[in-house]
Amino acid sequence: MIEDGVVVVVTGVPGVGKTTVIDAAVKAAKSEGINVTLMNYGTVMFEIAKARGLVENRDQMRKLPSSVQREVQRLAAKRIAEAAREGIVLVDTHMLINTPEGFLPGIPVWVAENLRPSVLVLVEADPEEIRNRRRKDETRERDLQPVEEIRLHQEMCRAVAAACATLTGATIAVIPNHDGKAHEAAEMVFNLFKAIAAKLKEVS
Ligand code: ATP
Ligand code: MG
Repeated sequence: MIEDGVVVVVTGVPGVGKTTVIDAAVKAAKSEGINVTLMNYGTVMFEIAKARGLVENRDQMRKLPSSVQREVQRLAAKRIAEAAREGIVLVDTHMLINTPEGFLPGIPVWVAENLRPSVLVLVEADPEEIRNRRRKDETRERDLQPVEEIRLHQEMCRAVAAACATLTGATIAVIPNHDGKAHEAAEMVFNLFKAIAAKLKEVS
């Protein structure tokens, strides 16, 4: 269980600029002596599944029976929550994963109960901006979705974030990341860290 730590969950549709913003915000925090532990949900899930001999590589993960995947998802939440006993733990994950069967929640109730997030961050941009970023990003193999599908995905993320906040009591911070404004978005996330760090100091 989280005692003195704070879990900040950062979400956003693929290509919105989550990693770009997180990296800059964590760098700024470190330079001011605020320690932020960054955890990638997918990586933690893979480590657990591999240790149990369920998979050898990441691509085998999604082929596991969904019941096993859900169990690994729950265990990953526990592990992240344990790491969050102290300080700020930033979890890079998705509010909703776009699957052929529909949107899959990244923070279903059994994850929320273990993770106990304090802050849900939604990184957002205009659907047109997101589409262009995906198209230009040669470092990844990104789906070229129609703008309207990206818009719907982003709207659904807001709805699910509201449900998750209602279940957990977490706050929701919407961070716009418009073209050429990643620095401003990172500063907003950094300000969030500063507010949390000040609170942690108050109670210690
Ligand atoms: P994923 O969920 O798939 O990991 P992501 O949300 O982490 O995606 P990034 O990899 O950070 O997205 O960014 C996607 C692309 O958009 C990158 O090429 C990045 O340089 C670019 N990008 C990010 N933020 C901005 C911005 N504010 N203005 C212009 N380009 C941006
Ligand atoms: Mg990323």
